[in-house]
Amino acid sequence: MYFQSKLLFEKAQELIPGGVNSPVRAFKSVGGTPIFMKHAKGAYMYDVDGARYLDYINSWGPMILGHAYEPVVKAIQEYATYSTSFGTPTELEIKVAEQIVKMVPNIDQVRMVNSGTEACMSALRLARGYTGRNKFIKFEGNYHGHADAFLVSAGSGVATLNIQAVPGVTQAVSEDTLTAPYNNLPAVEQLIADNPEQIAAIIVEPVAGNMGCILPQPGFLEGLRQLCDANGILLIFDEVMTGFRLARGGAQELFNIKADLVTFGKIIGGGMPVGAFAGRREIMQHIAPAGKVYQAGTLSGNPIAMIAGYTVLQILDEHPVIYSRLEEKKDYLVKGMREALGAAGIVHQINHVGSMLSVHFAEYPIIDFSAASGASNELFKRFFHAMLERGVYLPPSAFESWFLSNALTQEDLDFTIDATKKAIKAITN
Ligand code: PLP
Repeated sequence: MYFQSKLLFEKAQELIPGGVNSPVRAFKSVGGTPIFMKHAKGAYMYDVDGARYLDYINSWGPMILGHAYEPVVKAIQEYATYSTSFGTPTELEIKVAEQIVKMVPNIDQVRMVNSGTEACMSALRLARGYTGRNKFIKFEGNYHGHADAFLVSAGSGVATLNIQAVPGVTQAVSEDTLTAPYNNLPAVEQLIADNPEQIAAIIVEPVAGNMGCILPQPGFLEGLRQLCDANGILLIFDEVMTGFRLARGGAQELFNIKADLVTFGKIIGGGMPVGAFAGRREIMQHIAPAGKVYQAGTLSGNPIAMIAGYTVLQILDEHPVIYSRLEEKKDYLVKGMREALGAAGIVHQINHVGSMLSVHFAEYPIIDFSAASGASNELFKRFFHAMLERGVYLPPSAFESWFLSNALTQEDLDFTIDATKKAIKAITN
């Protein structure tokens, strides 16, 4: 099994640090060899050995409509013939901005970038430039990309690899990053009280997806909004995962809370490398060249990336039924998995919202990073591999959310539930 993947991984490790171009891909926390994929279609990925997997990563979120979705492929093919990059403005960028402003509440202007990291890094710079303050608050286990300032108590790969302090991030930078446990408003109040008029922004994943999937407790996001309003702080919703996934208008729409700045990635690029940040005109006008907060990119607004994202966004906009379908699929899956795990007497928690979910092997609710860290990684590891052997590809870390695509069929969901039953049997015997 995984014969070609093993050979490729050996070679990759010689040429690429750790054999991968992004750490969580390496299977470090679950062990074994990462699987090298060759192609994918709909809900399935196919590896270099010819094996087929039902995909619950979906490129870590972007492929909400499934892989190689025909209209997206066609649009990319057509636009590639016009040129893959101009370095000049294009009409397509206006259309994309218009589409985003139409779908997302409370934003007037959008700046396109090339990744979620860039989006969050730039939004923070803007918040600092706008408020004239240096510090910001982030939450333990939230991940906002790999810019220096965000790597304090970060989720995702930083949590998976259990890196306490990232070498190369200077203390001076980290000092301006204040952290609080997720879902803990008193801790945020305390930080604000301890740093009067010094905090530019609170950045939050409105649903955390980088320590498993963790939902905001009732009142948490509302409380952050109130604290920001009362203290001249900008509220940044990092919607790189949740944007266009939880609802047409993302978490702002789902929870009916207005953020001052919003960051996007993943779905917004339809599988191409794209990010964006957006907000009210009055704030966004501080970005260069309108204002002095500098931000730029040679390939920002790249036409191929724009047309891929634009195609996906238009489809989501025109067919909001996709969101209810995704939710039904998720509910069916969660119910089936709960029954399977419960019948086998496996203590577990399944957190879920929209088309995101995660399974934690713990007996208490998972509401923050320390709870997520206390769940059994050993059991997750065995579960992950048992599912993989049965053709179901889960995120290779308990600190990651699963993402459903609309390409999943009823048969696929039943297959996954059946695989869960068999996997549990195999790991408990
Ligand atoms: N913000 C969130 C919430 C994310 O989940 C991620 C990536 O997973 C990022 C930011 C960084 O995005 P990228 O990997 O595109 O730089």
